[in-house]
Amino acid sequence: MALNSRIPEGPLKDKWTTYKDKINLVNPANKRLIDVIIVGTGLAGGSAAATLAELGYNVKSFCFQDSPRRAHSIAAQGGINAAKNYQGDGDSTYRLFYDTVKGGDYRSREANVYRLAEVSTNIIDQCVAQGVPFARDYGGLLDNRSFGGVLVSRTFYAKGQTGQQLLLGAYSAMNRQIGRGKIKMYSRHEMLDVVIVDGKARGIIARNLVTGEIERHSAHAVVLATGGYGNAFYLSTY
Ligand SMILES: Cc1cc2nc3c(=O)[nH]c(=O)nc-3n(C[C@H](O)[C@H](O)[C@H](O)COP(=O)(O)OP(=O)(O)OC[C@H]3O[C@@H](n4cnc5c(N)ncnc54)[C@H](O)[C@@H]3O)c2cc1C
Repeated sequence: MALNSRIPEGPLKDKWTTYKDKINLVNPANKRLIDVIIVGTGLAGGSAAATLAELGYNVKSFCFQDSPRRAHSIAAQGGINAAKNYQGDGDSTYRLFYDTVKGGDYRSREANVYRLAEVSTNIIDQCVAQGVPFARDYGGLLDNRSFGGVLVSRTFYAKGQTGQQLLLGAYSAMNRQIGRGKIKMYSRHEMLDVVIVDGKARGIIARNLVTGEIERHSAHAVVLATGGYGNAFYLSTY
């Protein structure tokens, strides 16, 4: 069965904005009654866990490594792109979108890439707020370099260890929420399957890699942030 990516309707550049404008919101007082499972603690899962917990949801976070900090994201080196146009060299959301689709051999989901390009500027601000030590120029402003053959300088970097520094930022934000009791961390747990109830993901089956026990974990929603899709090949029929 083909994957249904459930991209919203409408013109490409409005799809996610319109969807977010109309999505049902949760009353702040009710967020503490909702459990969210997040599988993966890389840059995607780590920051999602920290953000959802900060918003008030109860998060259960899973990774198969012994520490969230060992996700593959740590290997990224060159930097992270954002259409801030700090250099005044003609960059824009559209140009970042176009370069990313082209760089992905035209195989990416275009609406999702457009959203990524839109939020790229906020992501840099969030990382700076988390304490990520991006390279700066002599005036103290965030530096940029041109990366991946593009015609503009839009890559924010931390020496050759951008992924490591970003992951430390996400990990710190996660740990703050673990300390507050809003994230329960399940390291050394491998998700084996997703539990689907009436077409909705309501939990996971995981193996405790220390004891070998198979465990059930339930939630109101499940986020898969397991990195490269190859990691989730058992789920390819959903
Ligand atoms: C060498 C290298 C250099 C790179 N350089 C750059 C760069 O310069 N700029 C750039 O933008 N991108 C770069 N990338 C790509 C980028 O780093 C990745 O796309 C991104 O970090 C992936 O983040 P993620 O959170 O999706 O996944 P990951 O960091 O891979 O995290 C996956 C998480 O899922 C967990 N997980 C997976 N399967 C299961 C399971 N079954 N049960 C429980 N947990 C599970 C893992 O434990 C881990 O915590 C680079 C990648 C590599 C490898």
